[in-house]
Amino acid sequence: MSDSILIIGGGVCGIQAALDLGDKGHHVYLVEKEPSIGGRMALLDKVFPTNDCSICILAPKMITCFNHPNVDVLTCSEVVEVKGKAGAFKVKVRRRARYVDEEKCTGCGSCTEECVLAGKIPDEWNQGFGTRAAAYIPFMQAVPRVAIIDPENCLHLSKDRCKKKKCVDACQRGAIDFEQKDVVQTIDAGAIIVATGLTIYDPTGDTEYGYGKFENVIHSMEYERLINASGPTGGHLKRRSDGERPKRIAYIQCVGARDVRSGHPYCCSVCCMCATKDAMLAYMHHDDTKNYILYTDIRAFGRGFDEYIKRGKEEYCIEYIRARPGEITEDHETKNLYVWYDDTESAGIKKLEVDMVVLSVAFVPPPGLKELASILGINIDEYDFFKAIDDMLSPLDTNVPGIYIAGACTRPMDVTDAVTQGGGAADRAALAVKEHGRKSPAKAGAGR
Ligand SMILES: Cc1cc2nc3c(=O)[nH]c(=O)nc-3n(C[C@H](O)[C@H](O)[C@H](O)COP(=O)(O)OP(=O)(O)OC[C@H]3O[C@@H](n4cnc5c(N)ncnc54)[C@H](O)[C@@H]3O)c2cc1C
Ligand code: SF4
Ligand code: SF4
Repeated sequence: MSDSILIIGGGVCGIQAALDLGDKGHHVYLVEKEPSIGGRMALLDKVFPTNDCSICILAPKMITCFNHPNVDVLTCSEVVEVKGKAGAFKVKVRRRARYVDEEKCTGCGSCTEECVLAGKIPDEWNQGFGTRAAAYIPFMQAVPRVAIIDPENCLHLSKDRCKKKKCVDACQRGAIDFEQKDVVQTIDAGAIIVATGLTIYDPTGDTEYGYGKFENVIHSMEYERLINASGPTGGHLKRRSDGERPKRIAYIQCVGARDVRSGHPYCCSVCCMCATKDAMLAYMHHDDTKNYILYTDIRAFGRGFDEYIKRGKEEYCIEYIRARPGEITEDHETKNLYVWYDDTESAGIKKLEVDMVVLSVAFVPPPGLKELASILGINIDEYDFFKAIDDMLSPLDTNVPGIYIAGACTRPMDVTDAVTQGGGAADRAALAVKEHGRKSPAKAGAGR
């Protein structure tokens, strides 16, 4: 029997669960596949409905979690096998080599500056805007703030062809360690929480919107990085085609969502709020920016959401147009875009000329979710999100006793709901450990 709890996914949901359980005295293993915890929220600029700086409110939680005496944060790690049952799971976790000694690295960044590939590799943390080196720190506020060497690009690790190995000379701490190997660690856990979050829909195949073809059509996650002060443009919104500031921006809702062709017929529920926030931010930066949101229906169900949309209209002059555009075309000279749409309120095909289009893309399950479901033996729903045994009365419980699901891996949701579910799953897991740790087992279904 173990009263340790293993959490898979170090986004805001997993972090909340880890903090709650750590504070209750449980030993927590927080398994995160990326080199930093923080998840999607760490990359956002501001968050609706408060418009707080996202990383400013998340970073203290990331740091508290990492330094918590009861929480072991395992980055670059993934669960590869689960055996046993509630109260006594045996979990195998593969920890990928960082090629940097976590204990020695101070996060000074010298290796990243001196790496011979500095400025040559597209920076995935900035959605491909901007570049990084083969030795890099994912983003400024990464936790842990430790460098990592990317084995696919590093000339030494991939081809044994980096004669200078400047990263090694640059590191005064002797932290670079090319001898590191992947290791598999076995962990005993009484309960497991799955909080692997979301990814975004790739609009490349939607030819009618010209994503990937027209430089000034971007998606909502790219927009988050472009308007972010710690992003690749220092927070200056610029068009990809000419570096000019866009003065007219159209946001197209439900791209890949509420769409049977994309395989994601569900509503993402919070993208209307995200687009409103994006438009507010553009206006906050320059109040001569004209923002148009082309929507299917406005979904503003949460506390303060309707008021937020009202403020968008009244204080930020956002124009909401009820329409699903059929096509976007480009002026080849100016690279401006024409959005062709059927205005479903006034009727008739219309054309809107803008400098930039932002596609509000669907929230979809992250890659590897099905494989993880199979390792854990838990069910998924018709859209490939994790499935609870009862959405209404037991929304965090899975078909496997002792394994709980929380956050955006169960359905698209905002930060508030992800934090609430993280706290709820922490309570469910703590209860399971208590119940299964008892000598005489509790009645089946107790505590549900
Ligand atoms: C463009 C955009 C804008 C948004 N704006 C807002 C906003 O303004 N306000 C708001 O409230 N919400 C906003 N959201 C939603 C918000 O990002 C989510 O609600 C929140 O991130 C969900 O937290 P989470 O922890 O459930 O998932 P995530 O943040 O996705 O974190 C999941 C974590 O799990 C890790 N992981 C995944 N698979 C594995 C695995 N197999 N093993 C180990 N680790 C794994 C991931 O690397 C990640 O760190 C926005 C989302 C997007 C895409
Ligand atoms: S590996 Fe060395 S040079 Fe690179 S960030 Fe860490 S301490 Fe600095
Ligand atoms: S070995 Fe060469 S390519 Fe690899 S991280 Fe060091 S300097 Fe960069």
